[in-house]
Amino acid sequence: MRKITTIILSFIMILSLVACGNTKKVESGLKDGQYKSIQDGHNGKIEVSLEVKNGKAEKAEIIKQDETPGLGTEAIEKIVKQFNEDKSLNLDDVTGATVSSKAVKNGLKDLMKQAGATEEMLKTSEKKTERKIKDSYECDVVIIGAGGAGLSAAIEAAENGAKVIVIEKASLAGGNTLVSGGGINVAGSKHQKDRNIEDSAQKFYEDTLKAGDNMADPKLVKVMADNSLDAANWLINDIHVEFMEDRLQQFGGHSVPRALVPVGNKGTELINKLLKKAEKLNVEVLYDTPAVEIFEEKGAATGIKAKNGNKDINIKANKGVIIASGGFASNVEMRKKYNKNYDERFKTTATQFSTGDGIVMAEKLGAKLRDMDYIQVYPTCNPKTGIISYVANSRFDGAILVNQKGERFVNEMGRRDEISNAILKQDDSVAYLVWGNEIESVGKMTEIHKKEFEKMESEDLIYSSDNLEDLSKHFNINVENFTKTINKFNSYVEKETDPDFDKTGAFKPIKTGKFYIQKIAPSTHHTMGGIVINEKAQVINKDGKVIKNLYAAGEVVGGIHGTNRLGGNAITDIIVFGRIAGKEITK
Ligand code: ADP
Repeated sequence: MRKITTIILSFIMILSLVACGNTKKVESGLKDGQYKSIQDGHNGKIEVSLEVKNGKAEKAEIIKQDETPGLGTEAIEKIVKQFNEDKSLNLDDVTGATVSSKAVKNGLKDLMKQAGATEEMLKTSEKKTERKIKDSYECDVVIIGAGGAGLSAAIEAAENGAKVIVIEKASLAGGNTLVSGGGINVAGSKHQKDRNIEDSAQKFYEDTLKAGDNMADPKLVKVMADNSLDAANWLINDIHVEFMEDRLQQFGGHSVPRALVPVGNKGTELINKLLKKAEKLNVEVLYDTPAVEIFEEKGAATGIKAKNGNKDINIKANKGVIIASGGFASNVEMRKKYNKNYDERFKTTATQFSTGDGIVMAEKLGAKLRDMDYIQVYPTCNPKTGIISYVANSRFDGAILVNQKGERFVNEMGRRDEISNAILKQDDSVAYLVWGNEIESVGKMTEIHKKEFEKMESEDLIYSSDNLEDLSKHFNINVENFTKTINKFNSYVEKETDPDFDKTGAFKPIKTGKFYIQKIAPSTHHTMGGIVINEKAQVINKDGKVIKNLYAAGEVVGGIHGTNRLGGNAITDIIVFGRIAGKEITK
């Protein structure tokens, strides 16, 4: 009997799994060393490593991965971070990235096994425990959505001393801000001054209004333009976002280059830093928790009802509610309800969570909606997945578009709607972006977005060669027409005028290899319509009156972009109005 007890005791000592909060921590008994595991992810192999020191799991790391940026990549990073914090295999899948999640979880389990963890030990560590989420909460401000607008609002409200809860439908923060290129338009930046580019809030305002066919609310556009510089300085100085020094982008429709681009040319830099700041200010973020209803008493918002799995959660918010749940570009039914053109034929660049929930909830409280039929389609996306292509940003450095016949058909720097509509009229509703070394050496798009480039190469959506003719042959484009088109365009470059399509922006020749050709198609991208707000981000009802304690910011709002949003304006919009909502609600 004693022997058995001793065996059990030593087993427990060696492999002790100590309860830690709501997880089972692997405390000791592992073999010291460095371990490696390779698993099949969504897009390719995921390689994870584990260092075991003094019998304990010290640190897991992702060595190599090729998951989708903005979703799979962030999902596996989140899971590894969670493992490192808890040293437990009680890890949840990330909604929308289940394959990537399972792969990295299998990798971590395999690593623990290699380090000597027994089946029993693994099972205990994996055991699902009570979730931390409670049935009810009380706070000052509740924010629906942890994208760029929601997190900016949360930071400002928390800085003003409010107790803030952000609820997020996905398992990750970031929304479309995360999957965006992160470019933000700013009038009067240091980047512009360093390059002797003259700009002003007035010019920015005029460009934005004009690009939206003068259908936006001029008061809101003015707020955005007037506050752009302050928003950028806030991101740089308070949030510590890093922008590339050597890049100032001119998106189509802007009269001067004015977009600062974060390092990596991805929204990840913005979201990571905003989230870090929010967490530092004790903002609580509840993931996998969609809001389903906004409560109202005597005409004022008082809190929300949310769901976590099957559990109902009530959140009382003494100062009010901020809706920052993004647009509805991925909700086909809602798209069709407001504009029957944007049906199932269109894939989308938006995340699966852009379902318009905030708009529906606000409407139930009497909020006024506007511009709901204005849906933007982004011209240069992956024709197979719908995902936006960042390699195709070579267009802003001067790349041109040709059709299957090898002919140009549009001003490549025109508005997104003009280009998209023009592409839809071409054979198979696709087009080809073409550029050479003169353009590639400016923006280095195939290097900066190397993973995307390699993935498209493997899917035969992009092709490069030292021989120009090769490009057209590869995609069965008429060689003679193609060569003629390129030669004609090169002759326009010398004079910097384009008599055919009035191309604006950068003029660079396509004369020296390596040459690139990329197949692209349009996808729904941004929904310009949404909730009506005033300059203080307060929600307005159908009688034109403020709904007390209810605010909205970001893509969920209508009226800032008119018929058509310009590139880089979404980030300015969400940061400016997110901050305003956070400040105003705590006034
Ligand atoms: P914005 O640019 O306006 O900040 P994003 O798309 O970046 O918009 O962020 C919106 C966020 O709101 C996304 O993370 C999305 O998952 C989240 N979201 C959408 N619907 C809900 C909901 N019903 N409850 C909570 N979060 C939501």
